[in-house]
Amino acid sequence: MTTLLDTIISRIRSQGPMRLDDYMTTCLLHPTLGYYTTRDPIGADGDFVTAPEISQMFGELIGLCLAQTWLSQGAPAQFTVAELGPGRGTLMADILRATQSVPGFVEAAEIVLVEASPTLRDIQSTTLAGYTIRWLDTPDELGEQPLYLVANEFFDALPIRQFVRDDKGWRERHISHRNGALSFGLGPRLPLPALSDRLDDTVDGDLVENCTPLTGYMHPISHRIATYGGAALIIDYGDWRSLGDTLQALMGHKSVDPLTAPGQCDLTAHVDFEKLALAASPAKHSRVTPQGVFLERLGITQRAHTLAKAMSGTALETHIAAHRRLTHPSEMGNLFKVMGLYPPTQPPLPGLEP
Ligand code: SAH
Repeated sequence: MTTLLDTIISRIRSQGPMRLDDYMTTCLLHPTLGYYTTRDPIGADGDFVTAPEISQMFGELIGLCLAQTWLSQGAPAQFTVAELGPGRGTLMADILRATQSVPGFVEAAEIVLVEASPTLRDIQSTTLAGYTIRWLDTPDELGEQPLYLVANEFFDALPIRQFVRDDKGWRERHISHRNGALSFGLGPRLPLPALSDRLDDTVDGDLVENCTPLTGYMHPISHRIATYGGAALIIDYGDWRSLGDTLQALMGHKSVDPLTAPGQCDLTAHVDFEKLALAASPAKHSRVTPQGVFLERLGITQRAHTLAKAMSGTALETHIAAHRRLTHPSEMGNLFKVMGLYPPTQPPLPGLEP
């Protein structure tokens, strides 16, 4: 049977060294051998765990944050509730369950999931049985109406390119092969005007990353929010203007070499929130806020106390650990950041500042 490694090597043989963004897309989304296309990677038995899988509180608070924003914007009659990269569908299920208490919200919402993996679409349809869902390949196809959107650990899965500073130019990191194994190499030095802003904060040998499709995903979302109303919550790991190699491969919850098992491990990179902020226009963007601070402002501790009243033994211990994991600065609380998008005429979403 042909493996993804064979496929990649034969492509490099015929077309020359492969760009990193090409490699990531091939590994994650190859139609028959890709990582997301062929499996459910999330959870204790998979390769990584995400916030909505840790506790229902995450999705509940996000749902109430979006529904409160909808109310503050005059509760438009027709609107979309959307998620980018919904994984197992757990976050959307928690959003829709928690917002049943907001009259009119769930009944009127058009529910949209932007998902590339057919395997995960199947799992999402099971998780969300009973709801009418529209699946899209890209946010370009979203309706022209108010949009309330969430993206958790979506932008980190988008492909990046990496460039190493060489005097006033840049050499792109690419992938070649030798004796059946993949290895990194560097292309020729090029001037690259798109990276001219990074000449100020880098020195020779520094590596910078560029997420090529980020603007294309952001534009249709910011355009709808600015024109029709709505809001977006983008939650991911990363920081303002990243520097250095942040490409990471995870298999069975452990870090592995990103080149050894293509298609069999998760590949992600830190999200550059400065790039998200630049792409937020014509909508406004909030200050980048640590996930722990955001969840505390939305009342996660009160919610945790309420849920704890009905628990005991191991369930209670797991629940306390989940609260800590989502919020504590040494766990996900600081590594993960939240940025909100909102219309220029409106205040930011609850829990966020301009
Ligand atoms: N948000 C979920 C899952 C994060 S994993 C959670 O928090 O649990 C990343 C998700 O993005 C998966 O559902 C994956 O299939 C999807 N994905 C990755 N690249 C994509 C792309 N280019 N277009 C649409 N979906 C994509």
